Amino acid sequence: METSLTAPVGTMTGVGPARQKALAELGINTIADLLTYYPFRYDDLQVKDVNEIADQEKVTLKGTVASEPVLARFGRKKNRLNFRLLIDHDVYMVTFFNQPYLMKQLETGQALAVYGKWDAKRSSLTGMKIINPNNAEQAFGSIYPASKSIRQGTIQKLIKQAFETYGDQLVDIVPAPLAEKYRLLPRRQMIHDMHFPASQDASTAARRSATYEEFLLFQMQMQTLKQADRTTDGITIHYDNAKLKAFIKTLPFELTGAQKRVVNEICLDLKAPQHMNRLLQGDVGSGKTIVAAIVMYAAITAGYQAALMAPTEILAEQHANNLAQVFADTDVNVALLTGSTKPAARKALLAALAAGEIDLLIGTHALIQDGVEYANLGLVITDEQHRFGVNQRAEFRQKGHQPDALAMTATPIPRTLAITAYGEMDVSEIDELPAGRQPIQTTWVRSNQANSALSFVRKRLAAGEQTYVVTPLIEESETLDVKNAEALSANLQDYFAPDYKVGLLHGRMKPDEKEAVMAAFKANEIQLLVSTTVIEVGVDVKNATVMMIYDADRFGLAQLHQLRGRVGRGSQASYCILVADPKNEQGVQRMQIMTETTNGFVLAQKDLELRGSGEVLGVKQSGLPSFKVGDPIADLNVLQVAQQDAHAIVAQPDWQQQPANRALAQILKTKLAAVGTLD
Ligand code: ADP
Ligand code: MG
Repeated sequence: METSLTAPVGTMTGVGPARQKALAELGINTIADLLTYYPFRYDDLQVKDVNEIADQEKVTLKGTVASEPVLARFGRKKNRLNFRLLIDHDVYMVTFFNQPYLMKQLETGQALAVYGKWDAKRSSLTGMKIINPNNAEQAFGSIYPASKSIRQGTIQKLIKQAFETYGDQLVDIVPAPLAEKYRLLPRRQMIHDMHFPASQDASTAARRSATYEEFLLFQMQMQTLKQADRTTDGITIHYDNAKLKAFIKTLPFELTGAQKRVVNEICLDLKAPQHMNRLLQGDVGSGKTIVAAIVMYAAITAGYQAALMAPTEILAEQHANNLAQVFADTDVNVALLTGSTKPAARKALLAALAAGEIDLLIGTHALIQDGVEYANLGLVITDEQHRFGVNQRAEFRQKGHQPDALAMTATPIPRTLAITAYGEMDVSEIDELPAGRQPIQTTWVRSNQANSALSFVRKRLAAGEQTYVVTPLIEESETLDVKNAEALSANLQDYFAPDYKVGLLHGRMKPDEKEAVMAAFKANEIQLLVSTTVIEVGVDVKNATVMMIYDADRFGLAQLHQLRGRVGRGSQASYCILVADPKNEQGVQRMQIMTETTNGFVLAQKDLELRGSGEVLGVKQSGLPSFKVGDPIADLNVLQVAQQDAHAIVAQPDWQQQPANRALAQILKTKLAAVGTLD
């Protein structure tokens, strides 16, 4: 019954269309997806001895309800539920805030386990939840990423149900010799212990096994793709060198030495018959876009089409506008395709694309959707690579093309890490900024000094320059982010009226609304732009000289660096103002590092060091592909080992036929089915 695990979650009892949709939004389509939807943390539900608990520690206490619960209301919507809990011979106060419905579950004399936060001074517990007596044996409560459409409790219940019904079908994926070598858990036990660990050690062991499995699968995918690259013919792009040189002469500036060097590296790849799979790293503002333009032009002179894919519509539009100008005096035909291209325009565009009338197509993920057919695609460039999955190469291949691929990223990561984490790409680096740039002066102020910072902003505006203001990031709630941004922009508009105009940009706006605001900012009709982090990548407005970031300590260093890179693009002096009241020493250090260096590589290094000392920045911000379990930085050695193992497996011509590799081959086949490389 091997099919059951790959069956849609909808086949499970209790999963109707609505739940199926909610699960799909979380990336859960099959039962196997559900079983590998791992918790991001565990609540410690082990009953503790009161004498061993530290202040503010989260613990579970077990005792008897020793007093009638009392509900006190205060304010309009707030309330507090109090009762006494008898543990051994001592009585402790338990308080639940704003959970009045718990009244009904409590009775004097009843045995009870409560999870909450311990207040040592008062010897009392602020209750977070009452533990279901059925779960009393479970030592840890698994907490999953949930959403508005599906609750935590439902996910927990479904995973439990899925494991009970289908757990027996879980077979090992990692080949037995490797599993033995690294003493990995059998897959069934691993998945059990990821969800329902009996102890901290069990959870650590499960995570270790899951990390290796995930990295091995990733590296196997990379290796199989690479092998397919070797066995299928790549294209040789015979570009017109004279035309290319003439084109470079038309640019309004001289290329930096680093830009010339990487253009040469890429052009050599284009001419070579092998596939290009190259990563272009360059700090923000180092001028990657023009490098992209030059090499795309090269491909076009050889009669090929080129595609440039950006992670957001704003960025795609900006590239389209810039490149239309860059290519204005050439016969290159540039077009833009995004999710908001109107149906009629889209239809015409697709026809022109298939007929080979469009030379350069710029867009978002829409570039690789079904129905987009290229006549003769030779080169694909992805901007801000880390925002995409690792599979666009496969997706383009699926369209019947073998284009050369260049990925650009502004997040500097050490070369060894890049090569391993991106699946053995060649790496080019632009390690030099265009001449004449003034370093951005960064200052850090506490929130009670924000007003003096604003009077500085007023001076820059008075000098005819413009300002970005980025609003705090509020965890996991876009609605709150938007509210914050709206409130801040209203305040700032009051503050700067009637002299300057304040605009607002946030993720909930429609694409054409965003575009209108960006256009107004570019045209200096708006002087101060308040934004959530949608401007994070790529936006280029030379007249903007101040970047002010509220609650800066909530952002990772990499992201702050990206944001700061939005200014300092012209020849004027530029400034970055961080407003933050960091809660701990690390936060203070991070703010200080930002004021001390503008070098992306130094920052990346510091970021790693701080992570090493326990600071967890999202992997998303680190510029690396995101994994479910493994952390490519913290677990780099595992990633490297998995890479070597994948190499060794793929090097055996009959690896797919070997019994030990059966499950691995099977799952890769499913993953790469669309690519057709395994048959
Ligand atoms: P990024 O690498 O962050 O994508 P961009 O490609 O947006 O950087 O370039 C930043 C700015 O620098 C742009 O306004 C671009 O026109 C300009 N620029 C790029 N190369 C040079 C150069 N060699 N000399 C002067 N300005 C340059
Ligand atoms: Mg860029």
